[in-house]
Amino acid sequence: MSGTAARGQGPETPISRPGTRLVDYHLHTPRCGHATGSLDDYVRTGLERGLAEMGFADHLPLVHMHDDTLSMPVAELPAYVAEVLELGRRYPEAALKLGIEADFVPTHLDRIASLVASQPFDYVIGSVHFIDGWGFDDPRFLNGYRERDLPKLWRRYFELLGDAAESGLFDILAHPDLIKKFGMRPDVDMGEIYADCVQRIAASDVAIEVSTAGLRKPVGEIYPAPEFLRLCCEAGIPVALGSDAHGPGEVAYAFDMLPDFLAACGCRQIAVFEGRVRELRTL
Ligand code: FE
Ligand code: ZN
Ligand code: ZN
Ligand code: FE
Repeated sequence: MSGTAARGQGPETPISRPGTRLVDYHLHTPRCGHATGSLDDYVRTGLERGLAEMGFADHLPLVHMHDDTLSMPVAELPAYVAEVLELGRRYPEAALKLGIEADFVPTHLDRIASLVASQPFDYVIGSVHFIDGWGFDDPRFLNGYRERDLPKLWRRYFELLGDAAESGLFDILAHPDLIKKFGMRPDVDMGEIYADCVQRIAASDVAIEVSTAGLRKPVGEIYPAPEFLRLCCEAGIPVALGSDAHGPGEVAYAFDMLPDFLAACGCRQIAVFEGRVRELRTL
């Protein structure tokens, strides 16, 4: 999961521009087993940092394996939903949304679809955290990089991201180039791989997430790379925003960088969701 490596509290990063329309749609909760803090503190931090809207998107229970440190058990899903809905009633000024981050596991799409349909989510974020069963972003399994060919790995990752888009399960694709997390890159031109993936995402009408989580990881960059985001914006793919906060201090993490980053990539609107219906807002 993208939050397992660094769980530290982020620096104080209020969004410096007044009148911001920024939203943070990717907040976790301690239910996943690798996040900390009370949900009230996530919301309060988001309000202090000037978010126009925020949303929890904790990890959907994993359907292909069991690991208490990766996601809540299935039996807890209704309690997660009830807790976020109750919080939203107590903080109307937070415009709190109910989301979920679901792993794209090609062998279990029916099960994922039925879990997602069982709750009144405002949006579903799809994540590629596994490449053919290997949790490539999990620091526990870093050894896997030694046994694999980096160019093939990157090709396979972006192929799976396209598959995730085409699955129809998701509203948003999380941290679109998570494969760069540990800073290991193939020495190949990514142009064609990016272009092919972007075309598949555009044809699927899914939004992509711009995530500041990568800034807290060894790679030290926003997900996705500017070259990828520029292609997405040219293709008309809507952009959603997230910090992937695994602690209250990470809410809106480094969001003061986003206005310039988005503008430089030709992105002028962000996507917001309610009841899985998308709306675009001009920044
Ligand atoms: Fe993730
Ligand atoms: Zn994530
Ligand atoms: Zn996580
Ligand atoms: Fe996440």
